[in-house]
Amino acid sequence: GVVGQGESTDAAMGNVPLIDSFSRLLIGQDPLNIEAAFERIRTSGVFAGAQSGQYVAALTAVEIALWDIAGKALGLPVYQLLGGRVRQRVRVYCDSGAQEMIPGDERSKARIRQIQEMGFTAAKIDIDDATDPARFDRVNWTASNGEIDHMVAKVAFTRELYPKTFDLAVDMHARYDAGTGKRVAKEVEPFKLMWLEEPVPAENIDAMREVRASTSTPICCGENVYMRWGFREILEKRAADIIMPDFQKCGGLLEARKIADMAHTYYVPVAPHAVTSPIGMMATAHVCAAIPNFLVQEWHWIDSLDLWRNWVKEGEIIQKGYIVLPERPGIGVEMNEDGARKAQVP
Ligand code: MG
Repeated sequence: GVVGQGESTDAAMGNVPLIDSFSRLLIGQDPLNIEAAFERIRTSGVFAGAQSGQYVAALTAVEIALWDIAGKALGLPVYQLLGGRVRQRVRVYCDSGAQEMIPGDERSKARIRQIQEMGFTAAKIDIDDATDPARFDRVNWTASNGEIDHMVAKVAFTRELYPKTFDLAVDMHARYDAGTGKRVAKEVEPFKLMWLEEPVPAENIDAMREVRASTSTPICCGENVYMRWGFREILEKRAADIIMPDFQKCGGLLEARKIADMAHTYYVPVAPHAVTSPIGMMATAHVCAAIPNFLVQEWHWIDSLDLWRNWVKEGEIIQKGYIVLPERPGIGVEMNEDGARKAQVP
């Protein structure tokens, strides 16, 4: 009679049939043996893409639901089952959303004010722009001098409007080539960013390492990297200052803890990528409360505040830029079906 909820991201089209296919590996089993369930599902799919992608994202959702079940069955919050908490509250940074940071623009300034009024102490902006008029070629991702000037101007404008103690991260969305990545990382050095995110795609770890070695700007990557095996090479090659696994994609909460612990041996902090509902956000926060090398957790819903606040029965889970871990058993938030339906994909 115990029901658990989990969530995965970026797998909407493939999730349902994959999760249905996992049922034969779950029905009749003890849901408290989470590692065993994870290994059964993972190893049964190794010839079908279980190393990454939608398969692991679907597995992740099931794994998180099992933690919710375990917490409810044992009467403990999930963080308590992951080693207990090392912090009472989890710092959250605000992604600036669809509002581009245009130097001098009033709506951009309003967004920067809004983020501070909500109590956040860190934010992220995007500087990649496929529609930049300075682009000479619609296909290649070598930025022109004009494009790089625009990127740096966005960073300068935003950095200027936040107080010095406010942290700023900048995302390039894994789009550019290595030469561009190095040039941008060098030019934004004076702004002391919290990080520059994925200046090049994370698939070629040597290219990421090359960018990192060329600059004092901290480099962060890994939102599309899966499980321990995906992060091993990034860490071994010292390709990133900060890793950003997505806990609704990378294999689940225990997998996230394993990745974080591995990173800890390299003195690399973890700043989880997070774009999910309050259920996924809170599940992520349980791990962040339990790992020593946590830096900051993402939040991505500033453009859809009504949806965000009505998604779970508990309402708003972020208070002044922090998530306070609930004492309730399991993940500690329950879906409000009427609210969640507004986000439903037909
Ligand atoms: Mg990103």
